[in-house]
Amino acid sequence: MKFIGPHVSIAGGLWNAPERARQLGATGFGMFTKNQRQWKGRDLTGEDVDRFGKALAEGGYAPENILVHDSYLINLGHPEEEKLAKSRDAFLDEIRRVEQLGLKYLNFHPGSHLNGMEPEACLDRIAESLNLALEQTESAVLVIENTAGQGSNLGNRFEEIARIIDGVKSKARVGVCLDTCHLFAAGYDLRTKGSGEAVWEEFDRIIGFEYLKGMHLNDAKSALASRLDRHNSLGAGQIGWEPFLRIAADPRFDRIPLVLETIDETLWPDEIARLLGKSPA
Ligand SMILES: [Zn+2]
Ligand SMILES: [Zn+2]
Repeated sequence: MKFIGPHVSIAGGLWNAPERARQLGATGFGMFTKNQRQWKGRDLTGEDVDRFGKALAEGGYAPENILVHDSYLINLGHPEEEKLAKSRDAFLDEIRRVEQLGLKYLNFHPGSHLNGMEPEACLDRIAESLNLALEQTESAVLVIENTAGQGSNLGNRFEEIARIIDGVKSKARVGVCLDTCHLFAAGYDLRTKGSGEAVWEEFDRIIGFEYLKGMHLNDAKSALASRLDRHNSLGAGQIGWEPFLRIAADPRFDRIPLVLETIDETLWPDEIARLLGKSPA
């Protein structure tokens, strides 16, 4: 069983996200729990939580079908103390919102050294940020997303993500989300069956499939190893449809949210149907 769907909007209220996903034929989805460009959202009320829970149930979604994404402002490896503290506070708030909503997975970008510290020290700082957050929360799993490696963003190599995981004390509460566009832009070539299998084997060797808790299925406008994060619709970019159909047929990607962040919303129902094997290829 595959849990597939787009990152849906929460405009008008959080409970609209499951409803939007359901209308698209999605079996899973991605969402924010607040405006992703703000540090702090309005506190969730009991009514928010109830309405959201009802909408989830109506769509037939379980918590593990959903991948929440945190705010874009957060940098858990910030080289400056004050800004690091602000990021850590905001991250804690994101985790608490996930837990209040009864959800499980919080997806985030590892962080950026901003040329203010050594990459290794920054990776260790990110791990420390995760430890602090985990000590103060109950159950959410913190899901590290691989990056394209744009600018000073860390986490484009499996080794970097493995180093963060190494530094986290509660291994059961950390995971990885692989974004296919970011993988490709970072130089991991998913295009052919052979090259794609080599990427998954490398992932399994360096990080381990047991840590895979979600994926972002995006084609790439940008070239292999370009380190540019430019998403495209499935089949419309450099990766092409075939690797996505292979993922859709591969049991290693069962039971985790597979989220589309593709650029043309009008294609989402077709992308979902094709990945679920419900429409002709
Ligand atoms: Zn992504
Ligand atoms: Zn991206």
